[in-house]
Amino acid sequence: MARILITGGAGFIGSHLCERLLNEGNDIIAIDNFFTGSKKNIMHLMGNPYFEMVRHDITKDYYAEVDEIYNLACPASPVHYQYNPIKTIKTSVMGAINVLGLAKRVKAKVLQASTSEVYGDPEVHPQVESYWGNVNPIGIRSCYDEGKRCAETLFFDYHRQNKVRIKIIRIFNTYGPRMQPDDGRVVSNFIIQALQNKDITIYGDGLQTRSFQYVENLVDGMIKFMATPDSEIGPVNIGNPDEFTIKQLAELVIKLTNTKSKIIYNPLPENDPMKRKPDISKIQSLIDWEPSIKLEDGLKETIAYFKTVIK
Ligand code: NAD
Ligand code: UDP
Repeated sequence: MARILITGGAGFIGSHLCERLLNEGNDIIAIDNFFTGSKKNIMHLMGNPYFEMVRHDITKDYYAEVDEIYNLACPASPVHYQYNPIKTIKTSVMGAINVLGLAKRVKAKVLQASTSEVYGDPEVHPQVESYWGNVNPIGIRSCYDEGKRCAETLFFDYHRQNKVRIKIIRIFNTYGPRMQPDDGRVVSNFIIQALQNKDITIYGDGLQTRSFQYVENLVDGMIKFMATPDSEIGPVNIGNPDEFTIKQLAELVIKLTNTKSKIIYNPLPENDPMKRKPDISKIQSLIDWEPSIKLEDGLKETIAYFKTVIK
């Protein structure tokens, strides 16, 4: 039984990770300030004596004797991370310093949930880990992108300077049950609009692409990568390389929900990346892992979930 700390444990991805690691027989501490996470996401775990939920903000120091840390705390949807951009960058940077300091003191292994956003609006396609990215340092997405880039730098410097055992994964667009209905991300927006027979809002011409990974596949890859030898520090991309235009996604959601909704076109937000698709050969050379869940199947599960949470 490992003692595992999960920051952002009450969030969308964090709650699935808590559940999985708990079911595998570990002792879990989840910390969260409930900015975008919710007790509802982890309510079903609360009665388990090996699960502790702590209300805490990772911009402040935290101490616990643990073997492993997964650092997920950070708002992830553009609507939420742009709500208080200064807080977002503090969460990424000071949060990284705090978890790395803890990992150093207790000699824990620490995994950083980084993001495909470190590649910005990429000029290399599909994105490989050796690509340094095309990121605007002063735009409205910068608090998130540059915060995550700085966190990666801190991880590498703690590793080089203090021999902290680090793992960095760059997560590509992930979806599934427990996404927040109001977080503005494309999958949740389209499903909710469709279920409510409201207009489906495509930003721009809908020809921009994304590659969507189902949350179960991500959690599986995260845990397997954490278990690799200490020499494997990453960064590694983790995502589903099946690439779709946003218009194709809208059409698929319309088909699967059988909605009366119509597509409408709104302006494209500033610095919205035009394409995104992971090269996953690096992680696949290290672990036995396949992003096996097809978009259509994952969407069916996600639609079923949203039917239970919206009126
Ligand atoms: P989420 O918003 O559901 O989860 C983030 C969690 O962190 C929430 O529970 C939130 O309350 C908590 N949090 C935020 N600031 C905090 C702070 N200062 N102190 C303590 N807790 C704090 O988002 P998610 O999609 O589950 O994302 C989890 C992680 O994965 C994030 O770090 C995100 O950047 C990364 N990621 C997600 C995606 C994706 O597509 N979902 C893609 C790339 C990277
Ligand atoms: N998007 C859209 N309609 C929406 C929400 C998002 O067309 O209602 C687009 C958005 O402009 C972007 C893509 O869908 O091109 C993915 O957006 P999301 O916010 O989910 O993630 P990210 O841009 O961070 O990949």
